[in-house]
Amino acid sequence: MMREPLIAAVTSDIAGKVRGKAFPVSQWEKRRKRGVGWTPTNVQITCFDAIAESPYGALGDLLLVPDADARVEVDFGDDGVPERFAFGDIVSLEGEPWECCTRAILKKALGRLEQAAGVRLKAAFEHEFHIMAPQYGVGEAYTLSGYRAQAGFGETLMAALRAAGLSPDTLMKEYGAGQYEVTVDPAMGVRAADEAAILRELTRATAIRCGEAASFTPIRDPSGVGNGVHIHMSLMNADGSPATYDPGGPHGLSATAGAFVAGILKYLDAIVALTAPSAISYERLTPHRWSAAYNNLGFRDREASVRICPVTSRDPAAIASQYNIEFRAADAAASPHLALAAIVHAGVQGIEEGLPSPEATEEDLSLLDADALVARGYVRLPQSLPQALARFMGSDVVGTWFDGDFLGIYHAHKQGELAYLEDLPPQQRYEVYEAVY
Ligand code: GLU
Ligand code: MG
Repeated sequence: MMREPLIAAVTSDIAGKVRGKAFPVSQWEKRRKRGVGWTPTNVQITCFDAIAESPYGALGDLLLVPDADARVEVDFGDDGVPERFAFGDIVSLEGEPWECCTRAILKKALGRLEQAAGVRLKAAFEHEFHIMAPQYGVGEAYTLSGYRAQAGFGETLMAALRAAGLSPDTLMKEYGAGQYEVTVDPAMGVRAADEAAILRELTRATAIRCGEAASFTPIRDPSGVGNGVHIHMSLMNADGSPATYDPGGPHGLSATAGAFVAGILKYLDAIVALTAPSAISYERLTPHRWSAAYNNLGFRDREASVRICPVTSRDPAAIASQYNIEFRAADAAASPHLALAAIVHAGVQGIEEGLPSPEATEEDLSLLDADALVARGYVRLPQSLPQALARFMGSDVVGTWFDGDFLGIYHAHKQGELAYLEDLPPQQRYEVYEAVY
């Protein structure tokens, strides 16, 4: 059959969805300068396709400009159409960044980090997801047999990631029934978030080509484990040398990294609406699920919101380059760009406020009563999306990080998402999220 090769210009939007428009590959040079037309109210399309209240209505025009640095072409070598897409920036007709473009929001946060501390961010997103095959049951946690059951999918996924310019790191059978985890090497700045979005899309595409379905839903069932997105971060000096590690600092954190972590923890309850943004995300953010329930720093503790990761080297220079912190209160209902932007802004806020490095916990905070928690400066993270949104909207500081009416638009978007769920029986809420992510 005749075919004209197409490529889609796409954005990772505030619903955590990847949306865009395709055009002939032959038009790439023209489109990478001029973009494709985009509609402001698209930002209010929720993950359930309902359109939340929009200040733009039917008015306005924008451009979605694909970026050559985020262009993907993966030919799976089967009979299917190659995956061709490029993440891009949404700009006004005059070429100005748009207030709701998640990539522009992230670029602004990264610029603020460089301005405040002279450092750049290196990051890697670690993803958990489910292969939705019904036959998986018990007895497969971390097993070779559980891995083997999807080894074909796994090898194709790793090849697809490499073809897209990512560096595959590990693939494993995670703890939950049908749950897997994939990691890639870190990348600098915006590229790290682009890679997270690319990885999710290629995971879904690979699953389809293998006759399976993959879901990154935050949690499938309240009695099971969640699918986390763990964001590993380190800071780099302008000359490319690592800036996160100081052997004399508490737990090895440099003063800059310590203030960065302190900022994340201080503002965590106000940004979790952006990093774990679905109605079911808060079922995952509960104690004893190895996710994150309090605003604590953990030393190699998988129940902490921010964890200092182990290093395998003994040589000081190698330790410094491996040393990284891991943000665990995120999931894949969030645009990786927006989640990372919120974390970076919170971290920079900590640097600007000159916050001291936080103490690290090595204990079960759920055993402390409310008074003991407060006395030690910890808060239980919001336990529902409406609670998280109230903290987000209620923070004067967080409001200053964003342009235009981003806050109001985000809030309205999430109200639209919650309205869709209102009449659904509890179990069906998990099913609809599983279907859309
Ligand atoms: N599944 C856990 C989460 O929801 C993480 C488990 C792990 O430490 O890998 O974040
Ligand atoms: Mg894991």
